[in-house]
Amino acid sequence: MDTGLRGKTALVCAASKGLGKACAMALAQEGVNVVITARGAEALEATAAEIRAATGVTVTTVAGDITTEAGRAAALAACPSPDILVNNAGGPPPGDFRDWGREDWIKAVDANMLTPIFLIKAVVDGMIARGFGRIVNITSASVKSPIPHLGMSNGARAGLTGFVAGLARQVARHNVTINGLLPGPFMTDRLKTTSKGMAEKSGRSVEDEILDRAKASPSGRVGYPDEFGSACAFLCSAQAGYIVGQNLVMDGGLFNSTMG
Ligand code: NAP
Repeated sequence: MDTGLRGKTALVCAASKGLGKACAMALAQEGVNVVITARGAEALEATAAEIRAATGVTVTTVAGDITTEAGRAAALAACPSPDILVNNAGGPPPGDFRDWGREDWIKAVDANMLTPIFLIKAVVDGMIARGFGRIVNITSASVKSPIPHLGMSNGARAGLTGFVAGLARQVARHNVTINGLLPGPFMTDRLKTTSKGMAEKSGRSVEDEILDRAKASPSGRVGYPDEFGSACAFLCSAQAGYIVGQNLVMDGGLFNSTMG
């Protein structure tokens, strides 16, 4: 399938590792020039080199914290008029809501709700003017099925999802789509870190904790980041122009329901 993306430009946030990296790689494989961000410059440069070598597209790096105004300004200076925006950032920490104060909540809302909203605000009118735009928000399966110890993630991401549900329907007639991609457990550093936390509590090994998550899934495994990247590239394709304001859960069937 020709996705019609060759020569387009994407801003992919938080993309030196894991799901963001997989999205950047999948878009690059479709001929999209990518601007990728992350806080750590070393891993970011290594990922940029890997994507260039694999695809030959132009890869620009912007080191910085995308959840800060300065980080967003730097990303937008390098990529003021993207055809594609993939919103992503690290997830809020786990814990008990009784221990979280206002500052903790502001951080979570800043990172997982306001950052994507401000990036959308910066680029969406250009997309409308050009008659093409694809925005994918990486959120979490927790948006549909809350995870008890990830209350700030449940809350902040649901806020983004609610906002986007309205906006997506205001911009769709201009061939600009906004959709959410909701990961369940994927084999990334984030999964290893959360499994390490669980292993410390249970006294079991990290491998056993990950194995349990795999066994709990109807698919019998956790997800591979490149599967996630491919879904993102499809949502950004010319063919996906009629997919508007949707939230695609990728969790191997874990979310148990008759309909999405
Ligand atoms: P990951 O493997 O830990 O990768 C996170 C990437 O984001 C890294 O490149 C990291 O680089 C970058 N990053 C983190 N915070 C950033 C910030 N403030 N500014 C710029 N870049 C930042 O995580 P992942 O598994 O891909 O997860 C991506 C998102 O999906 C997270 O929000 C996570 O909570 C969510 N999610 C993941 C899973 C899963 O199973 N993997 C499940 C549900 C939801 P630096 O650290 O160098 O900045």
